Amino acid sequence: MTKIEELLSVAISLDVDPDANCAVQGRHDALSSPIEYGEISVKACKRGLQGILELLDIYDIDATVFYEARTARMLIADGMDLPELSGRHEVACHSLKHEDFLGKVSGLPMEEEAIEEAITKAKDILENIFERDIKGFRAPYTRINRAVVKVLEQIGFQYDSSKTVAVGTEWRGNPFPLEVFDSNLLELALPSFHDKRGKRMSSYLWAIFEGRRVSDDYIDAVLTARDVAKGGLFIFSIHPWHLYVDCQGNPFTVEQARKNLESFEYILYQLKQMQGIQITRQDEYLEKWLFK
Ligand SMILES: [Zn+2]
Repeated sequence: MTKIEELLSVAISLDVDPDANCAVQGRHDALSSPIEYGEISVKACKRGLQGILELLDIYDIDATVFYEARTARMLIADGMDLPELSGRHEVACHSLKHEDFLGKVSGLPMEEEAIEEAITKAKDILENIFERDIKGFRAPYTRINRAVVKVLEQIGFQYDSSKTVAVGTEWRGNPFPLEVFDSNLLELALPSFHDKRGKRMSSYLWAIFEGRRVSDDYIDAVLTARDVAKGGLFIFSIHPWHLYVDCQGNPFTVEQARKNLESFEYILYQLKQMQGIQITRQDEYLEKWLFK
């Protein structure tokens, strides 16, 4: 087997949360857009998740699935057998109700006690549903602070995956402790990078579905990272709902939704063909990295 130091590892991660979710002024949890309806929908999330999981099976790829606990419950109530469907994948946590922990939009920064209550409950719900340990966390809106990190460490998470860091000579995709928050919790950061025209971009695939990027921008980034970040981890991220509705909650046409799924499939196809990388779950990468 090839050693971890020699190859770039690539992970596909999913943030499974409500359709077109949005932080709302005056409340901790998120609503689906348009927020005037005061509702949460997971219809697009369900279709997108089904499509993505099917493709991951076809391409024989194990991924990391960050579930918002509320959404996981709603999907199960709607007939999805999530434990069965997630069998080969890592199950990780994406909060309880997509809390705006820092209060950036809600205007209500959460106290450490309230953060602890929400994340503990989310972890318990997911561990009950999936009957396994939950090790990884990604914060809603990828926003963390000292209190969130402290809670994660206290209640036994092994890693956070919320920060975005520029991949290059300074950071080669390796895990690092969150010393910036006085913590030893390990961070598996999301990469940011430059496209061919020098414009900065992240590894979230939403920009494809919003018509701002093409799949090859992301494949080019992996090819570059393959040279500069050997032994590191390059994490992709996707919201399943985004295949079927846009950020405002408007449904895509049938044609557009088909294209969106094809764009995602194209990335999987290219990654499977690529030399010099290995596709892995985030927890498995971390395990290898810790014991290398
Ligand atoms: Zn989210």
